[in-house]
Amino acid sequence: MPLNLSDIVAHGELFSYRNSVQGWLGLRNGKDCIRLDLTGNCEPDLDGRKIRFESRHPRQPEKAWPDLTELAWHQIGPAGKITAALQIKARHENAWKPSLYLEWFSQNGRVIVELIDPLMQDIDMDSSEEATVVEDIDDDFDLPFGDELPDDVEFQEETSEFKLLPDGLQQHLDAKSASFDRIAVDGDSDSIRELELMDYLIEFENDETMDSVVGSLDSLPDPDTLNENQAQVALRTLLTKLALHGIAFDMCAHFTALDAYRLLMTEVLKEERFYPQLQQTRWVQHLSSFDYCPACDEEFECGYGETNRKMESENEESEE
Ligand SMILES: [Zn+2]
Ligand SMILES: [Zn+2]
Repeated sequence: MPLNLSDIVAHGELFSYRNSVQGWLGLRNGKDCIRLDLTGNCEPDLDGRKIRFESRHPRQPEKAWPDLTELAWHQIGPAGKITAALQIKARHENAWKPSLYLEWFSQNGRVIVELIDPLMQDIDMDSSEEATVVEDIDDDFDLPFGDELPDDVEFQEETSEFKLLPDGLQQHLDAKSASFDRIAVDGDSDSIRELELMDYLIEFENDETMDSVVGSLDSLPDPDTLNENQAQVALRTLLTKLALHGIAFDMCAHFTALDAYRLLMTEVLKEERFYPQLQQTRWVQHLSSFDYCPACDEEFECGYGETNRKMESENEESEE
């Protein structure tokens, strides 16, 4: 059964790029926020758009707030169907209403959010009014974080998850972070901590190659036998499996589904290491196409657009 968050999502934003869907969802308790960091594309109606939305769907009071203890606050994995083009018949009403439908496959399996007749607007990323973000939107949009995006939330969560790690590791981290306290400025300490975690695992713990996560690579379709449409299905299936293990694939704009699937099957999954110990944490491990892409490389040399995103995500996740 999919995890259905429709009743508990209050509002959010969605940013659709080529091969990537980013965004966040604010929950109705006014404090929790889920970050979306998905691979793939929206349906044509939302493709390339940046939207902000708010639910007008009254919450069923008899329904208890679902148990979110297993929910990963940083949701990664392949995008499913993401569209605002569907009409659905609302319960108790005899009219067709537009809906915003979000579906993806994450650490929590299949997740859906369906908002019936939500408030929706495009965010103009270029206008300077919007650049100051959020403040002068609509009174209806009261964002729980002011103009801060929910990265902090994720870090808080992930930091607390470290307590689940073995004692030796905890001590190792504590010792390291004690020495870091003197040099690290606030925001950086989390990512330094994450680097240290990886450091420790590489040094002291067993690892496996990624292909062990998906079973045998031989049991998956051979990229050379697939056309682009078939590759889309194969890629989504593969990314769904990886997502269940907290493994994300950041796909640059230059890759087709077939390129990406071939890259994963023939190189990345055979080379990258996987750390089963991280399963108990909410650690997200990112694989990416950027390092294998000549076009990205060129842009990097020239210091243009895409590079910013690349560097941003590297800083943020610090898995390199
Ligand atoms: Zn991420
Ligand atoms: Zn690229």
